Amino acid sequence: MNKSKSGARRTNSAKATLRKSPNGTRYSEAAACLAEIGKGFHARGWVLGTSGNFSAVISREPLRLAITSTGLDKGSLAPDQFLEMDEAANVVRGDGRPSAEALLHLAIVRGVDARAVLHTHSVWSTVLSGSHASQGGIALEGYEMLKGLEGVRTHKHREWLPILENSQDMLELGERVSKTLRESPGIHGFLLQEHGLYTWGGNLPEAKRHVEILEFLMEVLVRSGAAQSA
Ligand SMILES: [Zn+2]
Repeated sequence: MNKSKSGARRTNSAKATLRKSPNGTRYSEAAACLAEIGKGFHARGWVLGTSGNFSAVISREPLRLAITSTGLDKGSLAPDQFLEMDEAANVVRGDGRPSAEALLHLAIVRGVDARAVLHTHSVWSTVLSGSHASQGGIALEGYEMLKGLEGVRTHKHREWLPILENSQDMLELGERVSKTLRESPGIHGFLLQEHGLYTWGGNLPEAKRHVEILEFLMEVLVRSGAAQSA
């Protein structure tokens, strides 16, 4: 992989791929970083059984994302297994195909100013998104760890984590994701019912931190029993 610094920018990328995307170095760095994130999340049990998917915006104009290819073990991702995808979820670099959920990544990066989107299937998000589905979401309040969410300064912050009904129709689900983002400005993530968590950030480290914070808080809710009375 090309992990070279700015001086070698664009010089080590294959000409054929540069023709399709001028973001060679940024793509390579994003893929390497996403692969590392995948290993860490897998070790935590958040993306078992090839579940989950990760993406990073490498260009806004035109919109281009580095994204996981579907069906891969997230514990052993290699940077060359990633794909570059355009604004219509067409693959413009790499072998394989993106998950059907790629459409949700596109809905998120269009709906909020996100540069990275991370999706996990943890036990905790699966449990809570089922038990709280009838309430439409989960309120997280009073926890010091909330301050790990971008822009949050106090444990008194009330974070609303919407729960959307799951679907296999990603066009329809993508529209509901867009609607949720419009109607709940300032949220840091949402849950798909009995499925998992989507969160994002202004960059990859921020999105990774949001996964860690939200997964931590969901585990606290379940383990403490607080979720039952929430
Ligand atoms: Zn999923």
